[in-house]
Amino acid sequence: MAMTAKFVEDAGDDRLGQLTDALFHRTGVDGVYARTGLYEGVVEALAALISTYRPKGAEVLRFPPVMSRRHLEKHGYLKSFPNLLGCVSCLGGTEREIRAVVDRFENGGEWTEDLGAADLVLSPAACYPVYPLVAERGPVATGGLVFDVASDCFRREPSTDIDRFQSFRMREYVCIGSPAEIQDFREQWIVRAKGLADRLGLTYRVELASDPFFGRGGQLVAISQIQQSLKFELLVPVRSEEEPTACMSFNYHRDHFGHTWDLKTEDGEFAHTGCVAFGMDRLAVALFATHGIDIEAWPQDVRDALRV
Ligand code: 5GP
Ligand code: ZN
Repeated sequence: MAMTAKFVEDAGDDRLGQLTDALFHRTGVDGVYARTGLYEGVVEALAALISTYRPKGAEVLRFPPVMSRRHLEKHGYLKSFPNLLGCVSCLGGTEREIRAVVDRFENGGEWTEDLGAADLVLSPAACYPVYPLVAERGPVATGGLVFDVASDCFRREPSTDIDRFQSFRMREYVCIGSPAEIQDFREQWIVRAKGLADRLGLTYRVELASDPFFGRGGQLVAISQIQQSLKFELLVPVRSEEEPTACMSFNYHRDHFGHTWDLKTEDGEFAHTGCVAFGMDRLAVALFATHGIDIEAWPQDVRDALRV
């Protein structure tokens, strides 16, 4: 039944189907795609354009798609988004034990029953690994610190929507410092990001937002997040005007990470943190959805900005 409904929906939205066919190859798993050269060229161009906005003095860090499970546990991720988390699991034991599992699989049995959780999870956001790393270095000097980070991210939300991948790329500028420094950083970035979206020829609006916290208790956390104006998103109509897609987010974590990692500023206060996150895949999809799949037909100023 569900499949019939989906087919009807797909047939009804030819434009997004054509876009998906032009940009990606399906892999047999919803929300996980092989990317074409056409698409990847735009992702690379976007990355280069975002680099031109790198704040002065920002330290560049590129993280792998996996991170410490202990660190993510300590961040409180399991309380907030346990449903989205992916954990790496591997076969352990002696050669004989591992061989026995493989033999069982080759004889038609299951091999996954013997998996054990490794000390790794799939990173759900690019900035998580920064905070413990900076905390190790001691107090943060007045003026604050800025980082340019990126990683492949994973969130377990299988979907056939072109704007929701399970595996996607995230780039972030992260600021660590006093409350005033973080507020300044975020305000400046909302203005800058609008300028960036203008140069990309995207239609957008910036709105107060909340994260999809898990469960009924999560709804209260989301309401409080909105009341405290902790998250804004830059939304672009990709699938529809009514349900625009969050392509960038502007986050103020207050002193959550400061407390978690005993990360302090020079004056002995817990550090506050904030980040601006660019969804690289969503931005690239938004560009193609807005301007079409023929890059040569894109507005010249957009092509100039991206150098494509
Ligand atoms: P946030 O941490 O604010 O949820 O995510 C930061 C950014 O990552 C979002 O603004 C969005 O651009 C991108 N992002 C989040 N979830 C997805 C997703 O499911 N698919 C894709 N392609 N990008 C996502
Ligand atoms: Zn972040």
